[in-house]
Amino acid sequence: MWLKRYLAFGPNRPLWAFVADALLANNTPASESNVPMDIRTNCYLQSWTTSTSTRSSQPTDLLKMIKTGQKYGVRIEGLAFDWNILRDMPIWHHISADPKIRRLTNSSASNCLRFKHNLQTVGEAEDLAAPLIRVNGVQSQHRFNGHCECRDCTEIRELTDCEHPHHCMLRAEELLDTLPPKWDPRAEKPEDYEGNYPNFSRRQEENIFDYRLTTTGDLSDLFRVFTDKNHTPVNETFVRRVQPEGNEELIAVATDGSCMNNGQDTAIAGAGIYFAKDDLRDKSLKLPQMAGGTKLTQSNQAAELLAVKTQGHP
Ligand SMILES: [Zn+2]
Ligand SMILES: [Zn+2]
Ligand SMILES: [Zn+2]
Repeated sequence: MWLKRYLAFGPNRPLWAFVADALLANNTPASESNVPMDIRTNCYLQSWTTSTSTRSSQPTDLLKMIKTGQKYGVRIEGLAFDWNILRDMPIWHHISADPKIRRLTNSSASNCLRFKHNLQTVGEAEDLAAPLIRVNGVQSQHRFNGHCECRDCTEIRELTDCEHPHHCMLRAEELLDTLPPKWDPRAEKPEDYEGNYPNFSRRQEENIFDYRLTTTGDLSDLFRVFTDKNHTPVNETFVRRVQPEGNEELIAVATDGSCMNNGQDTAIAGAGIYFAKDDLRDKSLKLPQMAGGTKLTQSNQAAELLAVKTQGHP
């Protein structure tokens, strides 16, 4: 699939994908004319749109690619993302930022960041704003004024020709503050508590349940297909303060779902959970008709999920 390869952001990203970036950024509807060219990185990661009109100068192949993505609901989605992914996102017009980031982009205060610092990503903004933050109650050497000569300010002046580093640090912080916690690398994340996913050796036909909420990898790992366009993903983070390291115990459990008359109106589904012979935790379950006000489809898949979910909360 073309779109999948286009959205492969890793080191093996095909050359044509970079050409496509430029074409998609150039062929935008008139409504996007106030989005500066230099900040248009990727319309799947930022809040500007590319043209989908057949009357536009968008190449036919790219039109087809974009429309296929729309048809199958391709977009970024997930409960939580690891620090590297958060930092690799473009900062300007960040797709999940508060819309006021669009005003910040266009104001003259951002010009130094865009043209002298060449600031592009969330991570670069986080690094630039870092001297403003107290770490363990200790303030960095940075003084909060334009004449500061701390190491950070000196380095910024030398590398970028910026004449007012403190001012630009504040602006970088302002940009980061438009990000909801789920997308803000400075915020507490599930990743902070998930520990290292244990490297259990698995036996045949055994799956090790992965309890982590965090999407790891690179930007390509953010994308999901068949998403529901009527559902807006939440921006809150679910931080579970569990510290699994050290005292994990491996439990082997067999689960299975089954359904009679699968696919028909008369379908009845159920599931089984097996720990060991005569184990009190063994269960057989009937799939309820309703759950939380939603009618459940009696199906094999629903029964399989019921079994897996129930054994997690015995
Ligand atoms: Zn300084
Ligand atoms: Zn500057
Ligand atoms: Zn099964």
